[in-house]
Amino acid sequence: MQYRDQTLYLEDVPLADIAKRHGTPCYVYTSASILGKFQAYEQAFGSVPHQICYAAKANGNLAILKLLAEAGAGFDIVSGGELFRVLKAGGDPAKVIFSGVGKTAAELDYALEQNIRGFNCESEPELALIDSLAARRGVKARIALRVNPDVDASTHPYISTGLRKHKFGIDISEAESVYGRARTFQNLVPEGVSCHIGSQILDIQPMLEVFDKMVALAVRLRAQSLPIRSLDLGGGLGVPYHKGETAPPIADYIHAMCQKVAGHELEILIEPGRSIVAEAGLLVTRVLYRKTNGKKEFVIVDAAMNDLIRPALYHSHHHIVPLRQTDADKIVADVVGPICETGDFLAREREMPNVFPGDLLAICTAGAYGFVAASNYNARPRPPEILVEGDRHRVIRKRETYEDLIRGE
Ligand SMILES: *Cc1c(COP(=O)(O)O)cnc(C)c1O
Repeated sequence: MQYRDQTLYLEDVPLADIAKRHGTPCYVYTSASILGKFQAYEQAFGSVPHQICYAAKANGNLAILKLLAEAGAGFDIVSGGELFRVLKAGGDPAKVIFSGVGKTAAELDYALEQNIRGFNCESEPELALIDSLAARRGVKARIALRVNPDVDASTHPYISTGLRKHKFGIDISEAESVYGRARTFQNLVPEGVSCHIGSQILDIQPMLEVFDKMVALAVRLRAQSLPIRSLDLGGGLGVPYHKGETAPPIADYIHAMCQKVAGHELEILIEPGRSIVAEAGLLVTRVLYRKTNGKKEFVIVDAAMNDLIRPALYHSHHHIVPLRQTDADKIVADVVGPICETGDFLAREREMPNVFPGDLLAICTAGAYGFVAASNYNARPRPPEILVEGDRHRVIRKRETYEDLIRGE
């Protein structure tokens, strides 16, 4: 993304052209960035045995899944619907890992039918259910336990799923006894160990502790002659949302990981989502109105919390830039949408260039957990998704119509 002659381009396409042709709000993604991040992971592993399972929940558009499948990616899924999407996009089931704390019998059976690579299991009742479903199909299910390494979040606030009090995983102190029971099931092959301790991780240090704990666990399990051959170290690498914020380079993160695992003959699996797609996406929106309440300035735009819920849900920051560079004065304003909720904001108390009705803005770093979490709240059709490739672009999901809104009612 860069300005040329004061006009914002994504790759070689002026974003204003896309807005003019397809309307606003709209999501726009750059394929070069998505593939670049994926390749950065691939290259960092080099000859170390590994499988990158892109977390489809970050952005599950078929065109994006297809782009990654063709580049050789596997997938981490958290529902039957995501498996359906991955298969529709041409994903290889032999590279699919099924994660999640509440998989239903129907979802598990669908995944067994498709012969996916494996299941990351989060409880003993889940193991029993998979065993019985596998028995009925006459197959063996390859499983890993998702363990909770209990890495202290108090000093690392971005790590939010890896503590005992969280609903995820099996406590690492109980892992060995659960593996002991897992091996008694006739139709399960406990061949992996997995963890995923949270998202938007900007500090490698706590991850090093996690890698150590996980390798040590794998070694202990093998000593008990469990057939452990892979170590799934989850996703979670962060991206810069604030201007000036930095995230660990993918290569540094993976090199540190490989160093910790070296010498143990374990295939490394990872499940990155955000770090592959977040920076590739923008939400383009048009200014509808300006207004001042007392001393407070509002920029009212045509995108809202139903299109991008992250600011409302997590108070997350997204950098906002104008599509046409201006030397207008700076203002401090809340950027808000049309939805009837005070929580409907895209930015608060934001210093930004003075903008006027009709102006176009790009809400940056919106490629992950953006469209996938969009809703029809306030009967708003969801926006289109557009993929830029060099100097071309194509609609990879149409804007919804009013008829789409009432389908099924
Ligand atoms: C959400 C999730 C991921 C992806 O996390 P990112 O922060 O997007 O990289 C990976 N694995 C599991 C189990 C998840 O729930």
